[in-house]
Amino acid sequence: MTCGDKMKSCPHDSEILASNDVDGYRYYSCAKCSGYWIPGSALWKTMRPDVVQDIIERCSFEMASSLRCLNGDSYLVALKVNDCEIDICPSCHSLWLDPGEVEKLANCFRDSSALLAAHDLRSRSASKELEPLCIIDVVFQLLTILIR
Ligand SMILES: [Zn+2]
Ligand SMILES: [Zn+2]
Repeated sequence: MTCGDKMKSCPHDSEILASNDVDGYRYYSCAKCSGYWIPGSALWKTMRPDVVQDIIERCSFEMASSLRCLNGDSYLVALKVNDCEIDICPSCHSLWLDPGEVEKLANCFRDSSALLAAHDLRSRSASKELEPLCIIDVVFQLLTILIR
C-alpha cells in the first residue's frame, strides 16, 4: 500500500479492505466477508462514458441499497441480473459485490468468449493474480449484458 492510498473499510463489517492493483486496475477486497469493492475509476478506464452513463440511468429504476458508497457520496443502488445482485454507486459508479455473488456471476459467464480471451492473456503474462483479474472481467461482462 502506498502512502497516497486512503484506507477503506467494508460496508458490511467495517473490516479494513485489502488494496489490490492488477494491470492498473485498483480494487479492494474484504478478508472477513470476501466481498469486493471496485472503484468507478476502473469502469471509466475500460468503458466509454456513454456506456457508463447508460448503466447509471438503469440504476435509478432499481431499489436503493442500505449500503453507503465508500467514497461517502451516495447510497448504493441494487441491480438484479439473473439471481445475482450488485450494488452500484449512482454518483461515482463504484461497485460492491457481496461474497457468493462473485461466484454466481462467474458461473453466468463461464462460457463467455471475452472471459476466455482474458484468461489467455493472463496465462501469457505469467501473472499470479489470476483470480482478482477474473473478478474485474466478470464485472465488465455483467455490465455489458446490463446495457443491452
Ligand atoms: Zn466484509
Ligand atoms: Zn460513490
